[in-house]
Amino acid sequence: MDINLYRKDAEDFLGKVDKEYYLHYSGRKTELNLDEIYKQYDHLFSFENSQYLKNLIDSTEGDNKKKAGFLFQFCTEGYLSKKYQKISDKIANDEAMAKINIDDQDYAFRYSGIILSNEPDKNKRESIDSKRRKIIADVFNPDFKIYWQSLHKEAKGLGFDNYVSLFMQLKGYDFYSLDKSMDKLVLETNDIYEEHMDRLFNKKMGIGIHGSKACDFAFIKRAKEFDVFFKKENLVSIFKENMRLLGVDLDSQQNVIMDVEERENKSPRAFCCPAKVPSEIYLVVMPSGGQDDYGAMFHEGGHAEHFANVSSKLDFEYRYLGDNSITEGFAFCLENLTYEKAWLSSIIGMDENAAGEYVYFLGLINLFFLRRYAGKLKYELNLHKEAGVNNKDSLYSEILTKNLIMKYYPENYLKDVDEGFYCTSYIRAWMFEAQLKDYIFNKFGTEWFKSKKAGDFLKEIWGYGQKYSPEEILDFLGYKSLDINYLISNAVNLIKRKK
Ligand SMILES: [Zn+2]
Repeated sequence: MDINLYRKDAEDFLGKVDKEYYLHYSGRKTELNLDEIYKQYDHLFSFENSQYLKNLIDSTEGDNKKKAGFLFQFCTEGYLSKKYQKISDKIANDEAMAKINIDDQDYAFRYSGIILSNEPDKNKRESIDSKRRKIIADVFNPDFKIYWQSLHKEAKGLGFDNYVSLFMQLKGYDFYSLDKSMDKLVLETNDIYEEHMDRLFNKKMGIGIHGSKACDFAFIKRAKEFDVFFKKENLVSIFKENMRLLGVDLDSQQNVIMDVEERENKSPRAFCCPAKVPSEIYLVVMPSGGQDDYGAMFHEGGHAEHFANVSSKLDFEYRYLGDNSITEGFAFCLENLTYEKAWLSSIIGMDENAAGEYVYFLGLINLFFLRRYAGKLKYELNLHKEAGVNNKDSLYSEILTKNLIMKYYPENYLKDVDEGFYCTSYIRAWMFEAQLKDYIFNKFGTEWFKSKKAGDFLKEIWGYGQKYSPEEILDFLGYKSLDINYLISNAVNLIKRKK
């Protein structure tokens, strides 16, 4: 295997895939044609290459060992998704075609989630949700079963005990110690979660959290009452203005291509495609307004600025591959501005009262997600520790219901699963972001988002791509390690500061 040729082809491959994603999801190209690209680069994802790179990790040291690890992950994930592309395409197509009948009208399964989150009537929500669950159980789950069981077998074929140990090696960190950290988070937030979520449920819907269901939360999270602060027409200009304050001028930044036109078939959620890092980064937005839309814009904008500021001198592995907790952490760094009172008041123009109300609400949403991901990780470790998926549905329901108090139904046990333990990348990103913010607040103050110096600091760490892990970056900044306590105290403070 010629490693230099491999790296060159891998970079070309990723560039083409990301460009294709951009064209399709921005509504510029009807068909998504990844098949052609995968065929052209088929050789990248062979079993032999995966084994070669695995051995290369063992036989190298330092930087080369790190890069071999990144390539091994890229190659092996590609090998797995190539092999099971057909069945995952089938699941995606079935989902796109599935229909649900609500009030004598057929709606797309995918759209029914939006109807659900806008439905104020509890019984109607339950009825929509039960129709969704029936489709999941009857149509999707038989294929999901085959899919996950095949991957469990595949992990053994690659020389690992199970899917968990395969991905621990690929991602390069310990999932079980992360699980322990999240246990601490759950334990320390049990009381505050129960008390305040119950209060929020009562206030918004007149029901308590005990006896509620996951689909009730969908309605709570939608929170139309805050839409007035997050207007569609201001989204792009607010983002640009905020970046300008940080010293990033999007209008003159030639490598960030902002696509903001309205177009039929354009994805309603903002997204970022780093086609060439750092020279061709697409940031695609179709503003619809609302707090979620603003969060998504800043999140994706965080990815875009990260990739756009990566040093072109870095090796391919460091520009494109590595630990995604890094880029997700930078994305959350901007997204979580929406949690900061100073930002809500000076950038969004909320008064003290509204900002307090909003931060409290968002604090509860935040804690919900942290506890949900704690549950997901625990469940997924269990799902993937042995071959087969029998009897895991009740376990799914039990773990999620316990962490969130609202009822989680068992039918989602194979659908609500992150590919390749991506849940761990989010958890680590949240932890990383909490410590990074601690550093930023100490160094630049609570109005950091208006400081060019803070912008320069971000540009400097963005410049490393994903060469360094969160632990390594935090070490440079004077922290001992990734530490769950920062995330816990942030989560608690968002809720407690009200009162
Ligand atoms: Zn992201």
